[in-house]
Amino acid sequence: MSELPILVVGSVAIDDVETPAGRRPESLGGSANYFSVSASLFAPVRLVGVVGDDFPEGHVQQLGERGIDLAGLEQVSGKTFRWRGRYASEGADAETLDTQLNVFETFQPKIPAQHRDTPVVFLGNIHPGLQSDVLDQIDAPRFSAADTMNFWIEGERDALCQMIRRLDMLIINETEASLLAEEKNVYDAADAIRALGPRIVVIKRGAYGAIIFHPEGLFVVPAYPLRTVIDPTGAGDTFAAGFMGSLAEQGAFDFAALKTAALYGTVMASFACEGFSMDGVINLERSDVEARVERLKEIMSF
Ligand code: AMP
Repeated sequence: MSELPILVVGSVAIDDVETPAGRRPESLGGSANYFSVSASLFAPVRLVGVVGDDFPEGHVQQLGERGIDLAGLEQVSGKTFRWRGRYASEGADAETLDTQLNVFETFQPKIPAQHRDTPVVFLGNIHPGLQSDVLDQIDAPRFSAADTMNFWIEGERDALCQMIRRLDMLIINETEASLLAEEKNVYDAADAIRALGPRIVVIKRGAYGAIIFHPEGLFVVPAYPLRTVIDPTGAGDTFAAGFMGSLAEQGAFDFAALKTAALYGTVMASFACEGFSMDGVINLERSDVEARVERLKEIMSF
């Protein structure tokens, strides 16, 4: 395992998700939750977030048992963040039916002193003001990246743009990239987002894979071929976890390292889609990941 730890801030949630495969109320979710479980296969992870007193104690314990550092995870009285969403058909974007910020409404992230020099930072999907608060408390990370979603693009555009300006890389899905950039074409959208600040933009295209837009050029990775998609919730966070985890493990952030990282992100996301909530990733072993990476390389070779 690498010596480069990753600090992640994001939501830790209780979700209620409906897909064509069924419905799972009261399931574990949240961007930081998905991210830390998956990234812990690659590098040491430090989780920053908040949960209420309704959050299952067993899950906090499970995160700790995976070696995830929970010094930055606050437990306060009140209700945990809740999200309810639905996917109308396979491949459709999530439709948000309800978002209750609950304990996140008053959350003020406090980065423990021993975590301020964390070299790799991932700002998972959460209020962009909180993402900036975290960046303010880290001394010059070697690499910083973030994700966001339509909820914040529509509701907190100014705070989001201020945060994005400070990043090395933004990871975003295609629909949200178009919404943020006000450009329909994916290449125009990526240019417009890079003009907002980040040198690198990764655009996720669901079953069509992902594109890295880098100053040295483009890299296109297909999605891992999947016949069964049970629940895509968390696929984006799990993609980011494989991607950032691989970079931290490589200890490198150049274009070649980013290309390798894109394969790991793609493979991790494929596992996330195969079960509800965290079912697809919670029991994964590194050898399962390597087998899919090899298969993906085969598919990509020319
Ligand atoms: P993904 O499918 O990778 O985009 O991530 C889905 C997760 O994001 C779910 O587990 C939700 O709990 C969480 N989520 C949904 N809406 C928000 C929001 N507005 N802010 C933060 N997290 C959210």
